[in-house]
Amino acid sequence: MKKTEKKINVAIDGPSGAGKSTLAKALAKKLGINYVDTGAIYRTVGYAAFEAGIDPSDREAVTKMLEGITVEVKFEDSVQQMYLNGRPLGDLIRRHEISDYASRVSAIPEVRAFLLETQRETARNGGTIMDGRDIGTVILPDADVKIFLSASVEKRAERRYKELIERGDSRPYEDVLADIRERDERDSSRDTAPLRPADDAVFFDNSEIGLDESVEVALEIIKSKTRRRGKRCGKR
Ligand code: C5P
Repeated sequence: MKKTEKKINVAIDGPSGAGKSTLAKALAKKLGINYVDTGAIYRTVGYAAFEAGIDPSDREAVTKMLEGITVEVKFEDSVQQMYLNGRPLGDLIRRHEISDYASRVSAIPEVRAFLLETQRETARNGGTIMDGRDIGTVILPDADVKIFLSASVEKRAERRYKELIERGDSRPYEDVLADIRERDERDSSRDTAPLRPADDAVFFDNSEIGLDESVEVALEIIKSKTRRRGKRCGKR
């Protein structure tokens, strides 16, 4: 696909390990738009709680902590970098324990409200592909294209397991699977912004296909959705 002339916003939501970020990164490159990883934004707040020794499930303590922190998203050579209180965090937010902290703080309504504008701001200039849990429903309800990406829990755990091994973390597969199940449960049962597809999202299950094919399928979805939108707006 040629670089899009009109800058479009694409929302990709789905559970942990569905391959959202890998797919979104590949699509961003093809479409010539920015990729925004909102999980990294929640991870930054999770990291702040971890560093301050705050229980990430303690709503009051986490809410109080928000008053004293700044979270910034910067793009350095088109790559997203997270800053906490002016300090770049790099891969610190990818640590295993931070996944759990991020998942817990993200269930706190004040944290979601605190990060709302930060996320919207990244899409303000148009031309963004953003992945997360509530992008199509809450953050970018007017996104041009919404994809709900999923895969079986076993496949997702297998992918996460391989990814961890590549990073030198050799946790047993069963532990990774249990973690993913727990995060699925927490993400979809929380009261604030639970993981659910937007009414106008296109479902895409990539359990049985690899990245190249997933990119092709997603590009087809994007093409057909933007074509339809153009028609609805009276463009030819
Ligand atoms: O996507 P990633 O695994 O990096 O996200 C870390 C955690 O942040 C997730 O487990 C999820 O609970 C939370 N999250 C969220 N809303 C988003 C993105 C991530 O609640 N838009």
